Amino acid sequence: MTHPEPQLASIYQDVILDHYRKPRNKGELPNASVEVHMLNPSCGDEVLLQLKLADDRVEDAKFVGQGCSISMASLSMMTGLLKGASIGEARGLVERMKAMMHGDADAAKDRTLGNLRALAGVSQFPVRIKCALLGFNALEEALAKSSNSDQNVDSRNE
Ligand code: ZN
Repeated sequence: MTHPEPQLASIYQDVILDHYRKPRNKGELPNASVEVHMLNPSCGDEVLLQLKLADDRVEDAKFVGQGCSISMASLSMMTGLLKGASIGEARGLVERMKAMMHGDADAAKDRTLGNLRALAGVSQFPVRIKCALLGFNALEEALAKSSNSDQNVDSRNE
């Protein structure tokens, strides 16, 4: 079963296809601090997200996987934004992206989302939202895993 590609404005379509055809940060990350495998069965998207964390920052982020243009472009753009981000900024990215996918117009204009804003139109296609959020669900789990391995497990309440 395949879903039709959402009809997004062409300028956005170009950004998405560029990242899909020439994914950034794709490949294995040696010495990753944390990794998460995530599936989106409704579309067949699959990813292994790997992060290298140091001093409360994301030193490097890479992924391997396969899937539709939206899931892979989202991962390519997300990993680019993650490099050098603090853990707090990475958490913020997850929250803003989820808000944008739920139709939040302010989030869709948030410059911290960078090129990910090209995916804003996906929020109109509920079946594809999971594609756009695949990498972010993996990121959220990776951040949770890494904070659980620290001592300060007590802290955040989502
Ligand atoms: Zn997909």
